[in-house]
Amino acid sequence: MGNKGEENVSVIPSTRDPRLIFARFFPTLRYEKKSILAPAFRSPPRPKEGSKRDIMSISQLARSIAESPTLSLNEQARLLREKGEAVVHLGAGEPKNRAPISAILSSAAKLNTGDIKYTPTDGIPSLKKAVIRYTEENYDRVVAPENVLISGGAKQALFNLLFTLVNPQDEVIVLAPYWVSYPEMIKMVYGIPVIVTPEDGGFYPRMKEIEQAVSSYTKAIIVNSPNNPSGVVYPESFIAEIVEFCERKGIYLIMDDIYHKLVFEGKVAPPAFRYTTKDTESTKVICINGISKLYGMTGFRIGWVVAPRNLIEVMINVQAQTTSCTSLILQAAAEGALTGLQSVVESLRMTLENNRNVMMQELCSFNGIRVTKPDGTYYCLPDFRAYSNNSVELSRFLLKKALVVTVPGKEFGMEGHLRLSYATTVKDVKQGLERIKWALDPSSPNEIYIGERKYVRDWL
Ligand code: PMP
Repeated sequence: MGNKGEENVSVIPSTRDPRLIFARFFPTLRYEKKSILAPAFRSPPRPKEGSKRDIMSISQLARSIAESPTLSLNEQARLLREKGEAVVHLGAGEPKNRAPISAILSSAAKLNTGDIKYTPTDGIPSLKKAVIRYTEENYDRVVAPENVLISGGAKQALFNLLFTLVNPQDEVIVLAPYWVSYPEMIKMVYGIPVIVTPEDGGFYPRMKEIEQAVSSYTKAIIVNSPNNPSGVVYPESFIAEIVEFCERKGIYLIMDDIYHKLVFEGKVAPPAFRYTTKDTESTKVICINGISKLYGMTGFRIGWVVAPRNLIEVMINVQAQTTSCTSLILQAAAEGALTGLQSVVESLRMTLENNRNVMMQELCSFNGIRVTKPDGTYYCLPDFRAYSNNSVELSRFLLKKALVVTVPGKEFGMEGHLRLSYATTVKDVKQGLERIKWALDPSSPNEIYIGERKYVRDWL
């Protein structure tokens, strides 16, 4: 890895570097210096009395990785529904639409050939071509096939990238509120997530706060705008500033653009590529994207990364040694989506905008709730501190009493908030909010129908 000619690409740790020797053999000590990471390498909990589970045989690192709260909530909701409970799911990170017909036809045609084999690790040339066209149309940036790697969702693209960039103990800056997987993925590659939380309690990061968090160990900054979970779109001035800062300091700027076209009221999420003066091979801007959110094709598991070719070369090795490639059938589906009618994205965007408006209306009539109107994505992140400072408990309470799934803000680095998704039906948005109000707000009627049953509130 070290001979690829780029000083910031991960190199095999030198045994003469005392920091790395320290890190490799005594990770606990260094990690405990950072409060955010203290739990990462703590000794595992003792197995329960009588338990035969020999958890000591499982790696400390693997045990330190948190369960995905969003995926586990999906599972809880599914189990409750299976039992016949009238659950309203405001936790979902996927819309209800069907996959675009162009995606289905394209993958079905491939499947029908019966000739489904490994593909090149970096993806089939025709899909890469579609990604190149997409990059040109949306970011005004012409890239080569060597700048593109197709992965199993944006998630795998991001993991490959972090694995490629981060040496043990390197720091990666994550802006709160953040997508739940960033800190865990950074820990998985023995890096240190450094969380920057806006001091004013809002959702817009400030350059000054980021600069204060940067150290000589900072390898990258992850920016996700439109943002999951807050729905805010970072302003052009911020994107321009952070691009300039990263280029000047030699820090990679990882743009997670997975929601970038799902913005409302004619707004545009400023693409970072537009603000760099560097060419594709020398820029520090790296772009991650995929079909999951734009086309509502979460189950197809296709994402990609656009980066300088010296990084892509290493990422290809990482992917080749782990998953070889993504499925040909799903790559064909992604190609179908990208080259088919783009009105499907617009129609999803409009549905989301309408749902967002309904959700805002409902939230505004809610005593004590403060909410920043989202400019994009599937989500908003209202502040529920008027009712509870403990978002995990609050979310559990709402599921138990009102059968509404929400995601605790704590998981996104914003305690006291709940992430509510409007990637559902208007009926669910309305019902979900009505039930939350009933469960929390004493001024709402104290009786409600949930499914067939009448419930009476007896706790307020
Ligand atoms: N980034 C963000 C901000 C996300 O919200 C998600 C999915 N929830 C991903 C990346 C991963 O997307 P994919 O399904 O392509 O792996």
